[in-house]
Amino acid sequence: MALLPAAKGMEVKVLSPIPRPEPKAVEVPPAPHKVWVVYEVKPEDALEAIARRFGVDPRHILWSSGLKNARLYPGQRLLIPIVDEEADAPPRLPPGVEAYRVRPGDTLEAIAKRFGVSLLDLVSANPTLESLDRLVVGSELYIPQKAQGLVVALGEGQTLLDLAERFGLSPVELARANGVKDPLALRPGDRVLIPGVQAKTTYERLLAKQEAERRARLEAERKRQEELRRLAEERRRQQALRQAQTRQAQAVRPQVRRVSYREGGMRWPLFSFRITTYFGGRTPFQRFHTGLDLAAPTGTPIYAAKAGRVEVAGWSSVGYGFHVVLDHGGGLETLYAHMSRIAVRPGQWVEAGEVVGYVGSTGWSTGSHLHFEVRVNGIVKNPLSYLP
Ligand SMILES: [Zn+2]
Repeated sequence: MALLPAAKGMEVKVLSPIPRPEPKAVEVPPAPHKVWVVYEVKPEDALEAIARRFGVDPRHILWSSGLKNARLYPGQRLLIPIVDEEADAPPRLPPGVEAYRVRPGDTLEAIAKRFGVSLLDLVSANPTLESLDRLVVGSELYIPQKAQGLVVALGEGQTLLDLAERFGLSPVELARANGVKDPLALRPGDRVLIPGVQAKTTYERLLAKQEAERRARLEAERKRQEELRRLAEERRRQQALRQAQTRQAQAVRPQVRRVSYREGGMRWPLFSFRITTYFGGRTPFQRFHTGLDLAAPTGTPIYAAKAGRVEVAGWSSVGYGFHVVLDHGGGLETLYAHMSRIAVRPGQWVEAGEVVGYVGSTGWSTGSHLHFEVRVNGIVKNPLSYLP
């Protein structure tokens, strides 16, 4: 409190900020004080003179002391608000180190480049940095312009001597590096340069953190892309399904065929149906439709298109659901898919027109129908070429 002009020869006590007394008669805006001084009024004292001596507005004394008027009496205690210039002053910086206020768009790398210092030296001058990437706009950075080293704040109750001991430097050397003659001259909060010491650990920790954050960002981006792809795929699938349903619904004139059975030839596997997808068409599940889709209600009996032996009767892992394959000999096979129920067993002989199962929607199917395939030597053919 060396700055108090009236402190000499008076009983002066510095208090920490106290609650402001209620204003009584005098209304003035509060002064930007930080510290109050208790002053005991002497017999010859006048308010104006005291105010002048302390360099404050007399109204501020009245206001602080809760007085209505300027009539004083000896022994009266006044609260004098003092603007504590020292407390307001920014911390002292070591010579060769400059303060820089972070502006929008600043990066640590750009600042280091602009001032011609290394990133490690910049981090050493600011060892409390939390990140190499995120700077707080408006915050202060120390730029080690002419002097490099670790910059630390002098702690409460700490002196330059303590720091010298901690970092193994001579007190004189440390004082010189900080431009002071008296190692006790610095106050808590003042910044101290520890010459020749670099915050390598801090820097490496920040580098590791930066790398970890970069990886986390990449991973998050990868997940996001994956999710977008999944959503797009799902949308495409839904759209295909809707289109298939619309196509089915929009078949204005249902192609209902009455089946005629011809001795020796192939017969239609259903009595009554509507063709919804032709051979070679595109479906939600196939680019090239390998059979003929015949829509009919679930449970409609499915007849063998031709006499033959049951080659397959069971569940398909590739989308046919419950299905039956008949071997008609000579490399000719027929396949009946998406059944709700199978009516034959493998190895069994069936005559043309015998029930092999019932229409359903098992496997990859969007509605009740029979998917009918004709294969010759394992190659799918257009069933319409074989049907009456
Ligand atoms: Zn089909």
